[in-house]
Amino acid sequence: MRKCDICNGSISGEESYFLTTKEVVTAEGYWRVVLPSFAQLWRQMGMKARVGEQLLHVVARIARLDTPWVVCLRCFGLFPLDPAERKSKAEEYLSTGKPAGGFALCRLEYKGTDIVVENIDDDAMMAALRAAAAADRAEGEA
Ligand SMILES: [Zn+2]
Repeated sequence: MRKCDICNGSISGEESYFLTTKEVVTAEGYWRVVLPSFAQLWRQMGMKARVGEQLLHVVARIARLDTPWVVCLRCFGLFPLDPAERKSKAEEYLSTGKPAGGFALCRLEYKGTDIVVENIDDDAMMAALRAAAAADRAEGEA
């Protein structure tokens, strides 16, 4: 059984939807779902987050993913995209393995304690950071 790339729940081929990394990371709704679990992880690790830097790190870790996303119907609901089209793209991807990649928005490198982010798509990275920051603020206010 395949796992949803967002919630990690099991999905069958018929319930799969195709997304690109850019579509995922520029959606505030995605960050609203995943940021709380990152925040929990930091707390468990005893990290007092410098929020801005942590956010860039988190965004870059996801934005560097080069392969297509295959997600469940519930997670696909976070994105205002045509379900029929994305379902057929997912079926094509799962049966042919194509498109295999080319969706990364940045590269991420660890140099000692430094995190070096090299953008591939500047505009998309800015949009992703804005979306994640907006979700982070919304969580802080909740
Ligand atoms: Zn899911």
